[in-house]
This record gives sequence, C-alpha cells and structure tokens, in this order.
Amino acid sequence: MSRPAAERREALISLYREVQACKLCPLHETRTQAVFGNGNADADLMFVGEAPGMHEDQQGIPFVGRAGQLLDELLREVGLSREEVFVCNVLKSRPPGNRDPQPEEILTCRPYLDKQVELIEPRVICTLGNFATKLLTRSQRGITSVRGKPQEHQIGGRPVRIYPILHPAAALRTPKVKDQLREDFSRLPSLLAEALPGEQSPPARDLPEEKPQVDQLGLFG
Ligand code: URA
Repeated sequence: MSRPAAERREALISLYREVQACKLCPLHETRTQAVFGNGNADADLMFVGEAPGMHEDQQGIPFVGRAGQLLDELLREVGLSREEVFVCNVLKSRPPGNRDPQPEEILTCRPYLDKQVELIEPRVICTLGNFATKLLTRSQRGITSVRGKPQEHQIGGRPVRIYPILHPAAALRTPKVKDQLREDFSRLPSLLAEALPGEQSPPARDLPEEKPQVDQLGLFG
C-alpha cells in the first residue's frame, strides 16, 4: 500500500536535510555541498546518474553541467521535462577531480538512494551509465550489454522497471552515443504507459503543483 504523496514528500525533505549533514564518508571534507537530487517528489520516472561534478557541487543541483543540458534536451524531445521527473545520483557528494566512485563510497551512500526510491515510488528508473546500472540491477553486467532493455525488479517491496541507458556525458565525447541515447529515450513514453506486474493499468498522475522553494528542493512537486 502506498503512503499519501504529501507524507512521502515530507519524509523526502527530512532525508534531504540528513544528506546535507552527512559525514559518513570522507567526501564530505572536499565537497562544497551534498547534491541530494531534485524534481517531482512523486515522479513516475526517476533518473539515477553517477555522482555530482564541479557545477553540481557548486549549485547543489544534479545534472546542471553539459551532460545535464543534454539530459534536458533529450527529455524535451520526448515531451518530458525536469519538473515531471526526479533526478539524482548514486553518490550525493562530488568525488575530487571527478574520479570514479569508490566501492566503499557507493556502499555508504546506497541507503540514501534506496530511501529516495522508497519515498518517491517511481514506476520506471532510468539508470545512466555503469555505476547506477550495476548498483540498481544488482548485477555486474555492463551498460553496453544491457542498454535499452527494461528489467523488472522489486525495490522497497514495490515492482519497478529499471531501464539502463548510456550516460549523457559519454555522448559529449562520442557523437554516435547521442543517437543511441535518442533511440533509448524515444521508448520512455511507452514504457511509462505500460502496466507493471500486478498493475491493472498505469495510474493516472497529475503534473506537480507549484510549491514554495525549499533550498535545492525548489523543483519538488
Ligand atoms: N554526471 C552525473 O552522473 N551526475 C551529475 O549530477 C552530473 C554529471
């Protein structure tokens, strides 16, 4: 049984405060601020990237650099917007010099991501690149072999479709990747319209109402 959206949103705001104060791994010493994630607190579609980069660390918002601009463009092309979805990362703090997340950092940060999924109750989680894909599918199969193939999983006792796709940053380096991303994004509207196991039909959800800004959570609906 789902908890009311308003109650889940309040719990998400408490989690946001907890993440802001988190000192569980050494990344807190070098970050400007933690980057919790933002968007619609009751989103059907969630994106999970790798870790904040320099711009995200400075602004406290995920995917605001060049990879983020591409994410926005790809969303627009399929009729979606950042306000409708929720965007976050595996790690909530920037690794110095944008190095890869370390296994112990991923383990330490994981409960925050699990809790975000539990509270937002997305129906589709789009994992961007290898780190988010391996973590959420609980498999070592790399992104190139699983990309574009939705997988059914249970997270927090709820069915969810995980849809692994390439990381937008890869498209900035290799133009062919942008076409592959476009192709995978084009499938998102029909994936969202597809019922999950146990659902009669996908629930009709309204767009989020405008809400007062709460720090980084400005986009929360
Ligand atoms: N890359 C990521 O994985 N996350 C961000 O927030 C920005 C770039």
